[in-house]
Amino acid sequence: MKSAAPVSAAAVLPGAPFVAYRDGRLTLEDVPLHELAQAHGTPLFVYSRAAMLAALAAYQRGLAGRDALICYALKANSTLAVLRVFADAGCGFDIVSGGELERVLVAGGAPGKIVFSGIGKTRDEIRRALDVGIRCFNVESLAELDVLSEVAQACGQTARISIRVNPNVDARTHPYISTGLKGNKFGIAHEQALAAYRHAARLPGLQVVGIDCHIGSQITEVAPYLEAMERVLDLVAAIEATGIAIHHIDLGGGLGIDYAGETPPAADALWPALLARLDARGYGDRALMIEPGRSLVGNAGVCLTEVLYLKPGEQKNFCIVDAAMNDLPRPALYEAFHRIVPLRLAAPDAAAVTYDVVGPVCESGDWIGRDRALAVQPGEHLAVLSAGAYCMSMASNYNTRPRAAEVLVDGREARVVRQREAVQDLWRGETA
Ligand SMILES: *Cc1c(COP(=O)(O)O)cnc(C)c1O
Repeated sequence: MKSAAPVSAAAVLPGAPFVAYRDGRLTLEDVPLHELAQAHGTPLFVYSRAAMLAALAAYQRGLAGRDALICYALKANSTLAVLRVFADAGCGFDIVSGGELERVLVAGGAPGKIVFSGIGKTRDEIRRALDVGIRCFNVESLAELDVLSEVAQACGQTARISIRVNPNVDARTHPYISTGLKGNKFGIAHEQALAAYRHAARLPGLQVVGIDCHIGSQITEVAPYLEAMERVLDLVAAIEATGIAIHHIDLGGGLGIDYAGETPPAADALWPALLARLDARGYGDRALMIEPGRSLVGNAGVCLTEVLYLKPGEQKNFCIVDAAMNDLPRPALYEAFHRIVPLRLAAPDAAAVTYDVVGPVCESGDWIGRDRALAVQPGEHLAVLSAGAYCMSMASNYNTRPRAAEVLVDGREARVVRQREAVQDLWRGETA
């Protein structure tokens, strides 16, 4: 039996350690991606189980020897098969809606490892979360504390709570994904946090168990985390001085990934730095929780797309593909950058042309990459890299476009884990 060609270091793509060219064909783990595009059509999301587990392992190494729970923030990618990978690996989950709660339960996640974040939890969502016995509510306002107390009493339950504090730290990331500054809608201001804890401790039906913060997403430096932790520990000291015990400290998620050459710290470098500070301040014995999303899945996924048309223009050349902003919303939302590479490596003498890679949706904001040098022809396929996080979970049906199919790769195996939506699915529940 012929074994797979060895992957030379040079063939591995930056930011995507499980994506490589072998014999000129792009592969994810040991699966040639053009075969998946042919078998299942495009646009098609493909995820690597090994890449997800490798990303998780970096956190596990960084937190080794600690009482720590890694809660995967599933809004990054809430596909059941992805949740199953993390549930099987022992992860907890950070949810932000009742829908996400049901997804975790269906995928086999343990209710006792779920934390519930978000500023707008409804009474129904709270009731359901209490019924299944989630580990903790991350509370984001005084009004929510009151409602939680009321609902918990009505159900004869006790809600374990942590207050999400806003440490007023600049995560130095895109304004839409920065959440820890004073002007943000999230959390309770640092200055009001102590009063909020006092209020919570007096309310029936609530049990204070922790403190949390989450300062933003796609963070590429250690410093904002250190600053946030110092601020949170200042509060822990003040809160405990009033006799309220803080059992766990949850430092949120937000670690960035390499989309375009960014160099975020690896999880197993970030955490030792944070833990050293935690120990130095005398809080090394506390239980820890973290809520990573993007950094666990972002570079584990690619989106395959077919080139439909090449459209040369006076100012711009357009490469029109069958994936669009409804499948890959990040460029339209944040002007985000995704690497785009061909599934078949171009011949060395093929002339590359500079294109804007755009989708078919009727919006000028529907672009996937700008000014990309590509040597491609209609009918050939491209891979949009770093498409594992905040792509499929944000996908929509705009322009009545069915959502893409998804495949999970494990070694040489590839399994369809979400069928392509049928057009008829799109008007289910509608009346003409
Ligand atoms: C989105 C979110 C996360 C995960 O953020 P990433 O940048 O994907 O790691 C964690 N915690 C909360 C409260 C969130 O809203």
